[in-house]
Amino acid sequence: MPSISIHPAVDGGFKATDASFSGGTLVCACASNPVKVKVKGDIAHNHACGCTKCWKPEGAVFSVVAVAPTESVEVVEHAEKLAVVDPAALIQRHACKECGVHMYGPVERDHPFKGLSFVHPERFEESGWAGPGFAAFVSSIIESGYDPAGMDGVRARLRDLNLEPYDCLNPPLMDYIATWTAKKSGVLAA
Ligand SMILES: [Zn+2]
Ligand SMILES: [Zn+2]
Repeated sequence: MPSISIHPAVDGGFKATDASFSGGTLVCACASNPVKVKVKGDIAHNHACGCTKCWKPEGAVFSVVAVAPTESVEVVEHAEKLAVVDPAALIQRHACKECGVHMYGPVERDHPFKGLSFVHPERFEESGWAGPGFAAFVSSIIESGYDPAGMDGVRARLRDLNLEPYDCLNPPLMDYIATWTAKKSGVLAA
């Protein structure tokens, strides 16, 4: 039986992370005049995401998405081709108007993720970026039309790929969000 496909960047086994990776350039899918976004330093919290909002390449069930500090992210070419997908969303996903690839998505409102930008590392020209470490919002793939009867298989496949499946974010990020919220409300000392 062919294995269940998750995302092209992980289906064939993920290429080893290079500890010396120090950032690179994200490039959209346009054959001419592509949008280029420079990211200084490595990405963090890279993961597969099953939500309906993240950009995915054709045929992929999950996206691969990570964060970088917004101050380390800079559009260097063809900023005029970018538009925000949903201005009301927490993540201000900037997509290329021609090819549709989401190039970066800063969080600007008051939130634990404020100051971070979401990026899709598969768009790096360079290799060696930190590989995905877990799978988030797994049950949400059903909202994109995935057969609910196939979910056991999807979760088993994610575990085979060492991407522990969660239906929200992973415990470290959920704890981080809850801690921020508790400090803001004052039940924990800031
Ligand atoms: Zn493009
Ligand atoms: Zn997502």
